[in-house]
Amino acid sequence: MGEFQLIRDIFLPLAGQTRSAAVLLGPGDDCAIQRLAPGSELVFSVDTLVEGVHFPVGYDPEKLGWRALAVAVSDLAAMGASPECFTLALTLPDSDEAWLRAFASGLGRAARRFGLALAGGDTTRGPLTLSIQVHGSVPESQALLRSGARAGDLICVSGTLGDAGAALDYLDQLPAPAEAEPLLERYHHPQPRLELGQQLRSVATAAIDVSDGLLADLGHILAASGLGATVDVALVPLSAALRHLGDRAIPLALTAGDDYELCVTLPPGRWAALPSQVRSQLTVIGATVPEPGLKLQNAPPGLQAGLVVGYDHFGASS
Ligand code: ADP
Ligand code: MG
Repeated sequence: MGEFQLIRDIFLPLAGQTRSAAVLLGPGDDCAIQRLAPGSELVFSVDTLVEGVHFPVGYDPEKLGWRALAVAVSDLAAMGASPECFTLALTLPDSDEAWLRAFASGLGRAARRFGLALAGGDTTRGPLTLSIQVHGSVPESQALLRSGARAGDLICVSGTLGDAGAALDYLDQLPAPAEAEPLLERYHHPQPRLELGQQLRSVATAAIDVSDGLLADLGHILAASGLGATVDVALVPLSAALRHLGDRAIPLALTAGDDYELCVTLPPGRWAALPSQVRSQLTVIGATVPEPGLKLQNAPPGLQAGLVVGYDHFGASS
């Protein structure tokens, strides 16, 4: 398939199946056009996935399509934004039609689930690389930033942490052991917390999605807000599948990435006033303090000292 045939046969139909009232003009022209509702702000972000760096070489294309959009959309969730549309810049080593159809199927399923339309893109030849730019909207001045936390805020996380990181060890085991299935599902099909992010507008003082590991990502909130924190490791929510891994569970939950849960801060009074439907999606794990530094309570021996915090593409982890 040539570039134009591939766009016409694979991506234009996908755009047709993923609609948004906000997209006035989708793929096919020089640019797409998005309408912004009066009183709302455009929130946008781009994420790149490189084969062999962000996903394994030979990774299932259907899962790749889902995952690529999910990880990009997670940044919208962390801002409290409503998703609107996305563009896809795709670099392919060759045009393998079966691969492309499977990829488009996973991408389309994710786009329909999260409510974004494919608005355009770019298709080039080269080592397999995907860049997805997502667009969302928030009512004026209501985006959740990393910099808004205040001393004394509670620190909360959604869902459970560490599962996707634990799955990395099983990715090339075929068949994977049955107990790894729930962990692998978290890696293959991240579920960005879009609804929760929107529910936390004008409630959370700061928010971030956990893509690089809880301690690293919480560290970004603390740095941006000029604060420190105390986190009780015993409170960090773990799935049954992760607990099954024994001593490895806590270090994974604190430092492994790829879960795409939210980490947010909010004053205790607002926590108490949250509707139970929102509160039940969150677990309080600590609180912010005015002095810089992150203190862990109930950390397993050795963890605080030799803490490996998150993933940094260009540096040693530290
Ligand atoms: P231009 O040269 O003006 O950038 P292109 O030939 O790159 O145009 O793309 C033609 C049209 O096809 C554009 O509207 C673009 O958004 C769309 N397009 C190209 N690749 C993709 C893709 N992978 N997914 C969705 N739309 C795409
Ligand atoms: Mg182009």
